[in-house]
Amino acid sequence: MMNLSSTMKAYGCRYCVSPLKQLLHTTNHHLRFRPRSPPLFSSSFNNLKLPNFNLLLTYNSLFFTTEHLWGRSGMNTNKKMVEHLQQYGVISSEKVARVMETIDRALFVPDRTPAYADCPQEIGYNATISAPHMHATCLQLLEEKLQPGMHALDVGSGTGYLTACFAMMVGPQGRAIGVEHIPELVASSINNIEKSAAAPLLKKGSLSMHVGDGREGWPECAPYDAIHVGAAAPEMPQALLDQLKPGGRMVIPVGNIFQDLKVVDKNPDGSISIRSESSVRYVPLTSRDTQLQS
Ligand code: SAH
Repeated sequence: MMNLSSTMKAYGCRYCVSPLKQLLHTTNHHLRFRPRSPPLFSSSFNNLKLPNFNLLLTYNSLFFTTEHLWGRSGMNTNKKMVEHLQQYGVISSEKVARVMETIDRALFVPDRTPAYADCPQEIGYNATISAPHMHATCLQLLEEKLQPGMHALDVGSGTGYLTACFAMMVGPQGRAIGVEHIPELVASSINNIEKSAAAPLLKKGSLSMHVGDGREGWPECAPYDAIHVGAAAPEMPQALLDQLKPGGRMVIPVGNIFQDLKVVDKNPDGSISIRSESSVRYVPLTSRDTQLQS
């Protein structure tokens, strides 16, 4: 029951529309929906290959239901997606709302996938683009460290969506670096960004996308005010801690089956403070071979 409940929350349903709420209340009385409350369990659900097939079934059926209802409720523009996230308290920052409105998610998801539904989408190579609520959550956690002129690193940049958002926030005087270990994803992320509002920043060079092992960070442009890791590390990667500026912040999922989204602050004296934001489910931060074979 615990797992079933977690799966449902993981699907971004903490702020579902009321018909879905009703439906799920009749499905499982242990599910509680608390719009505008902080997330109990949020997830990218990047890895669809869950070990428990009951969960997988639940996940799929919920996926269908959510799509269906959101389709009917008119969740068909980027602006409506952002409004929805604001309405349900996921986005409270005007700046994050503006950047998510500016970078159209539809340019980053594969064709024929519902771009604006609050769920992850498969992008190939055993990877997914994270759900909009996870992107919003990470942008808000990092907002203070994404001021104009600051340096940001996006490890496991996948589609490039979040790197593009970072680039818009730090602006032309800042630096936004994406590192991804699947070369094909790096190539398609560049194509995606070229169609987006962040294209001029890519052209100018304040935004760049690289093939590399993100566990090593990207030392050339370190130290960083903000580091985001889009895949779950089994333990805190020392190289990333080293590349964080004093006063900087890293948001990173840590764990294997059970993962926590950690907020890591490097204090001005170089000491580290870590807190857990929420339970999450991401694909592992691993080697390319392991990911492709999984
Ligand atoms: N945040 C991105 C992608 C999330 S999926 C988005 O929303 O579009 C996690 C990504 O991390 C995948 O693209 C995967 O290929 C990448 N990844 C996993 N291990 C990695 C590593 N060691 N180095 C670089 N990228 C890695």
